[in-house]
Amino acid sequence: MQFDAELLLLAMAPVFLACIGWEAWHLRRTRPGARLYSWRDTLCNAALALMQQAADKLAWLAIIPVYAVFYDHYRVYTWRAGWLSFAELFVAQDLLYYVFHRCSHRVRWLWAAHVVHHSSERMNFSTAFRQSLMYPVAGMWLFWVPLAVLGFPPKQIVAIVLINLGFQFFVHTQAIGKFGNRAGSKLGWLEYAFNTPSIHRVHHARNDRYIDRNYAGVLVVWDRLFGSYVDEDPREPSVYGIVEPLDTYTPLKVTFHEWASMARDSASVHGARYKLRALFAPPAWAADYHARLRAGSTATLAHATINENNDIAAFSARRRP
Ligand SMILES: [Zn+2]
Ligand SMILES: [Zn+2]
Repeated sequence: MQFDAELLLLAMAPVFLACIGWEAWHLRRTRPGARLYSWRDTLCNAALALMQQAADKLAWLAIIPVYAVFYDHYRVYTWRAGWLSFAELFVAQDLLYYVFHRCSHRVRWLWAAHVVHHSSERMNFSTAFRQSLMYPVAGMWLFWVPLAVLGFPPKQIVAIVLINLGFQFFVHTQAIGKFGNRAGSKLGWLEYAFNTPSIHRVHHARNDRYIDRNYAGVLVVWDRLFGSYVDEDPREPSVYGIVEPLDTYTPLKVTFHEWASMARDSASVHGARYKLRALFAPPAWAADYHARLRAGSTATLAHATINENNDIAAFSARRRP
């Protein structure tokens, strides 16, 4: 029987659920009162995971033939099947994941899908389940097209994408400290090579020092190479969540809130240039815009349409100070 790569994450579900059970039990013993799990948050995360898995299964049906077109007609190389080509595929996809992830934090259209993953104020293994069914609409799949052009077969592309995401489940935890911090530990090198719980906790934080950092999928070398790496500082605990907090546990609202907000913003500004900014500027553009709208009176708000004189675009697009 041939293994269906698209079902890889579902096949790993028992491992994921066992980890969640262990972590909830462990944290209740070691950090009583910290309430690092909540039923409502965990159930919402689980519902989001199921919705995303169903949507993904359908989306692959449409996307795999597109990869096949690039593979069949435009590939520049033909790899001999084996461990070497698997290693090449793994490294190439992990680099593209870094690019995709960084773009997802800098382009609102992509952020509208990715924000779902960041919108919980808790950080535990179940946070990894918190995914958006809108990734195929946002265009995540486009980032893997170069793999087909490089000569990797479509099914292998799907498998490596899911292996990468499967690995990332294990970095969503507060139960594991920074590797190498304990005297005598020989695991410190892991923090230099791989995405780890410590590194990914930073990624989920909205502290000024941490926000929009550590985009790694599996290998953290990309963050270190491209200047987006920040160390977890024990003197500054992470504050999890997003700049404009989301006050709901309803999976559909969590999934679509940023798309709705983007549509509202795009409708409320005048001129193609500003409408495009509402869709594709960094997410901080929207946060600044909303802050400005909140600061204005209702009357002003009606005229808060942005124009050359009232140039919100001049606001810093950066989310860091
Ligand atoms: Zn992210
Ligand atoms: Zn994450």
